[in-house]
Amino acid sequence: MSAVLPVQSTVPIQDSFKCYRETEQSEDKVIATYVWIDGTGQNLRCKSRVLDYKPKKPEDCPDWNFDGSSTDQSTGRNSDCWLKPCAVFRDPFRRDPNILVLCEVYLHDWTPDKCNHRHSCNKVMEQVKEDKPWFGLEQEYTLVDYNGFPFGWPQGGFPGPQGPYYCGVGYTKVNGRPIVETHLSACLYAGVKICGTNAEVMPSQWEFQVGPCEGIEMGDHLWMARFILQQVSEDQGVVVSLDPKPIPGDWNGAGCHTNYSTLPMRQEGGIKAIEAAIEKLSKRHDVHIAAYDPSGGEDNKRRLTGLHETARIDQFSSGVANRGASIRIPRHCSAEGKGYLEDRRPASNCDPYMVTEIIVRTTILDEK
Ligand code: ADP
Ligand code: MN
Ligand code: MN
Ligand code: MN
Repeated sequence: MSAVLPVQSTVPIQDSFKCYRETEQSEDKVIATYVWIDGTGQNLRCKSRVLDYKPKKPEDCPDWNFDGSSTDQSTGRNSDCWLKPCAVFRDPFRRDPNILVLCEVYLHDWTPDKCNHRHSCNKVMEQVKEDKPWFGLEQEYTLVDYNGFPFGWPQGGFPGPQGPYYCGVGYTKVNGRPIVETHLSACLYAGVKICGTNAEVMPSQWEFQVGPCEGIEMGDHLWMARFILQQVSEDQGVVVSLDPKPIPGDWNGAGCHTNYSTLPMRQEGGIKAIEAAIEKLSKRHDVHIAAYDPSGGEDNKRRLTGLHETARIDQFSSGVANRGASIRIPRHCSAEGKGYLEDRRPASNCDPYMVTEIIVRTTILDEK
């Protein structure tokens, strides 16, 4: 029997958010929520511990461990995995002085877990520090109910065709705005570099942008923004789907457009560096597609069809202001002769550490 859950929120959002804020807590204790990517490479896990001091940076946080046999990260016989703190944020749920601690996962012998893509990304970002690579990610996602059907769509039917929903406003245009708003405020509180939100082309689909972030910071901030979104929507009885094509047919899929620049691209005449990077990207299309979703391209195949503002998965293309291309040069960058490029290929469920690493490998380290 399939579960039937209410499509409307059961808890008024302000009330539930307020209860976090007003919790009393003794001054000398800090709750640290350790957050990590599990063995799916897509889902997040977390657990909390009480500290009797306030860590300011990741190195102040103790290493910790967890049962990796329950998260597809180790076997039952040797089940302990390490949590290595790598970024600290303010906790928007429990509020100050409490913190969220993003962690890398290592196996018992301190080799990186198969889904710890931060480890290699960080090494590459160290190598290219002088180029100051900046990223801005556009995370698209779909709100769905317990059964995977879009949140707020008519029961047993479909809303009218796409057109009025993108950046829409009004009861028949958008669903779930309280989640979007709460997520935005919570990210700002946490110190996540979120820089915008908008309703998407398919109803119940939304986007938030994070950036610009330099180097390894991009993956850290996007993963924490995803964690906060999961917790806000959990609270509302709504599910966040990062499936790149949640509804087949004439409905837009969900991507994670990756905006990218280096110092030379941002300087006067930087368009030359942008064009040179695009030339290099054109020669490594397949390598990039393999890194742009957790299944090596299988998930993205359903989305990158050449329709619905995408380019085909098997063809590389680029163009100024072209939303049907693999890489777009924004109109204003072409006009100013400098700025950044947009890689439209990454799927909504991509690992930003993998995406940013391969872009830097191809365009700065010149890997062939
Ligand atoms: P779109 O027009 O494709 O919808 P958005 O406004 O949604 O674009 O997102 C633009 C993204 O580009 C933001 O995440 C922003 O931080 C990022 N961005 C802006 N300037 C740069 C830059 N110089 N280098 C890298 N990213 C940038
Ligand atoms: Mn956008
Ligand atoms: Mn979008
Ligand atoms: Mn975009």
